[in-house]
Amino acid sequence: MVEAKELYDKKEKCPICEKEFTTKKTRSSKLRLIKRDEDFFNHYSGENPIKYGVSVCPNCGYAALENKFHSITKEQGEIIKNNITTKWNKRSYGDARSLDDAIETYKLALLIGNLLNYKKLEIGTICLSIGWLYRLKEDRTEETRFLTLARDQFKEAYYNESLEGSNMDEGKLSYLAGEISRRLGDKEEALNWLKLSLSSPSTKQNPALDSMAREQWRITKEL
Ligand SMILES: [Zn+2]
Repeated sequence: MVEAKELYDKKEKCPICEKEFTTKKTRSSKLRLIKRDEDFFNHYSGENPIKYGVSVCPNCGYAALENKFHSITKEQGEIIKNNITTKWNKRSYGDARSLDDAIETYKLALLIGNLLNYKKLEIGTICLSIGWLYRLKEDRTEETRFLTLARDQFKEAYYNESLEGSNMDEGKLSYLAGEISRRLGDKEEALNWLKLSLSSPSTKQNPALDSMAREQWRITKEL
């Protein structure tokens, strides 16, 4: 297979077993964005960077989103060793990934996120990414399953978690819960969440989000 020019090797060191490995990343200068869905999923004409969002240690099976990979405590490391490494069939995700490979890496990150009690927002974000990968794969049943999981985690995060230190704010989170509900065909739920987003101060300060929320509310209302 000819190596896609968007990809390069990045060296990683596993924080749990301390073995080094390489994982592919995409060069942002080589990416060609062709479309953005209303739930913020970006489509590219070549490689999609989402496929390389999860780093997986080929030696011990530890996996996490890149920005989360190194923030792990000793106790959490023990949980991984006892629950993941003991069952791990050594394999590498260090080459170009198929959609199925990418889905496996996110499912592993999801399993680990649940073991380590990640925040609902983080679990929801992983579920949304899996839903998007199934969208690329054109598997509507699985896309729907993971979008539902994402929406439900986002709803819980909205009511029960602080969003501080995340790249999410109230307006964007309620917008996502609304837009995902719209995609799932839950009209009332979609309208409620989009209305909540439109009344949020953070949406009022974000004209692009405000106009998306208005448009998606209008589309949903007309259904
Ligand atoms: Zn490792």
